[in-house]
Amino acid sequence: ADDLVNAVHRLMSLADDARRLAVRANADTAEDAARARRFGAQGIGLCRTEHMFLGERRELVERLILAESDGEREAALAALLPLQQGDFTELFTAMDGLPVTVRLIDPPLHEFLPDLTELSVRIALEEKPSETDLKLLAAVRRLHEQNPMLGLRGVRLGLVVPGLFTMQVRAIAEAAARRRLAGADPRPEIMIPLVGTVQELEIVRDEAEAVIAEISREHGVELNIPVGTMIELPRAALTAGQIAESADFFSFGTNDLTQTVWGFSRDDVEASFFGAYLEKGIFGVSPFETIDADGVGSLVRAAATAGRATRPDLKLGVCGEHGGDPESVHFFHRVGLDYVSCSPFRIPIARLEAGRAATAVS
Ligand code: PEP
Ligand code: MG
Repeated sequence: ADDLVNAVHRLMSLADDARRLAVRANADTAEDAARARRFGAQGIGLCRTEHMFLGERRELVERLILAESDGEREAALAALLPLQQGDFTELFTAMDGLPVTVRLIDPPLHEFLPDLTELSVRIALEEKPSETDLKLLAAVRRLHEQNPMLGLRGVRLGLVVPGLFTMQVRAIAEAAARRRLAGADPRPEIMIPLVGTVQELEIVRDEAEAVIAEISREHGVELNIPVGTMIELPRAALTAGQIAESADFFSFGTNDLTQTVWGFSRDDVEASFFGAYLEKGIFGVSPFETIDADGVGSLVRAAATAGRATRPDLKLGVCGEHGGDPESVHFFHRVGLDYVSCSPFRIPIARLEAGRAATAVS
C-alpha cells in the first residue's frame, strides 16, 4: 500500500511540475477551504457568498430586500456586516497567503423571499389580515418572477438594493485589513456576478474601490484587492474587450454560460429531454458536464482573446462545474486560461489532467 501511495504522490508531483494551469477550489466555508488546501488547491477561485445567507440569516436578507425605508435597510445591513466580516476572516485565515476570490451575492431571489402561493393562501385564510401581512404580500407579488434564473440576480440585485454589495466589500476589506495588521497575508479578490455590460461593472467597481480606499486609510494599511467579473452571459463574452477595461480578471461561469448559450434551464432541463438526446447521440455527454467546445467553448476562446487584447495582463480562470472535468481541463489549457477552479474533491483530478494537458499525454 505504501508503494501505491508513493506512486500517486510521485505522479501528482510530476503533474504539478508540468502543468501551466493553476488549480483553485470552489469553497464557501473555512472547513471546505482547509479541505481544498489539503488536496493541493492554490487558492479559492469561487466563494459563493449567497450560501452564507441561508439558514438563520435568510431572514435578514429578506428584510433587506423588502425594506421600505432607509432605516429598515440600514438596520438589516448593520446586522449583516459583522457576520460577513466573521465569514471572511475565517476564510482568509484558512487560505492565508493564497488568493480568495469572493463573489458578491448572486442568489436567485425566490430563495430569499417567502413563497408567493403559500403566503397568499395563508393570508386568504386570515379573517382580518394585518396591515403588515398585506404589505408583505404586495411586496412579494411585486418581486415575484417566472424565471428567477434570468431575473433579479447577481449584479442586478447589487444595483437595485442600495448598500448590499458595499456591505460585503466593507466586510472583505475590514477582514483583510485586520488580518494584515495581525501579521497575516490575506489575498482577497472581489468578483461581480452576472455582468452583461461594462457599465454595470464600472458602477459596482467604483463603489467598491471607494470603500476599499476608505478602509485602507482608516487602518493605515495598503489593500490591493483586484476587482474582476464573472463572464457567464453571452453578451459579456461578446463584449469582453470592453469589459476588460474595467476588470482585473475574468472568471468564466460555464454553468450559466451553458444555460444561456443553449437556452437550457440549469434547474430542470436534464430530467426532461437530456436522456433522449444522449440516446440519439445528439450529445455524447451533457454540455453541463463537459465543455461544449464548438459552442460555449468558442465564446470562451473569443472572450479570452478579446479580453487579453484590451489588457494583456488580464487574469483568466473558470469556476463553473467544468473546471473539474478532465476533458474540459484540457480545453481550458489549450485556450490559455491561468487557472481552473473546482470542488475540493475534484482538485487532484484537475491537477493531474492539467499536467497531462501540458505534456500532451492524452
Ligand atoms: C457559473 O454560472 O458557472 C457559476 C460558477 O456560478 P453559479 O454556478 O453559482 O451560477
Ligand atoms: Mg453563475
